[in-house]
Amino acid sequence: MNKANLQSQGFALASVWGGPQKVRYYAPDGRVKEEIPEIRERQDGVVYDVLLAQGYTLTLPENPKPHCDGCGNWHNTGEEVKQCIGRKRVNAERWERFAKKKLKQADTQALEDKISRLEEQLGRLLAREEKTGGSLNGFLLQREANETELSKTSTEHRG
Ligand SMILES: [Zn+2]
Repeated sequence: MNKANLQSQGFALASVWGGPQKVRYYAPDGRVKEEIPEIRERQDGVVYDVLLAQGYTLTLPENPKPHCDGCGNWHNTGEEVKQCIGRKRVNAERWERFAKKKLKQADTQALEDKISRLEEQLGRLLAREEKTGGSLNGFLLQREANETELSKTSTEHRG
């Protein structure tokens, strides 16, 4: 394949002849970019110029397309740029709301865990209180009595 063939297929390929050489590319919005062509090969063996694949051309575009700060590409009309930026903002807001909600859920989850641990402890305490038939005070008195009984028993054994 000769140089003319490659160029006819839309390749800049200047680096192949006479070492790296900058080529003038035109962005779809008409802005000029001088770069050494970067040629890559796809998995199926097709070679392509990276900038040309991105939409740059070797000639000044006849109908320049507006650049979009939202997505970094070019759109056909200024209206499309507006829509793209609007969509991006909506998505950003949606993401922010989602993140805030998640954060809140995490906080709530931690609190719920704490509460359920407390409930468990309270449940055990109440169950014990029920067994001893009455107030918590009764439970404590009972416990005290048991301890006295135990110490008496051990004293008796020793004596
Ligand atoms: Zn866009």
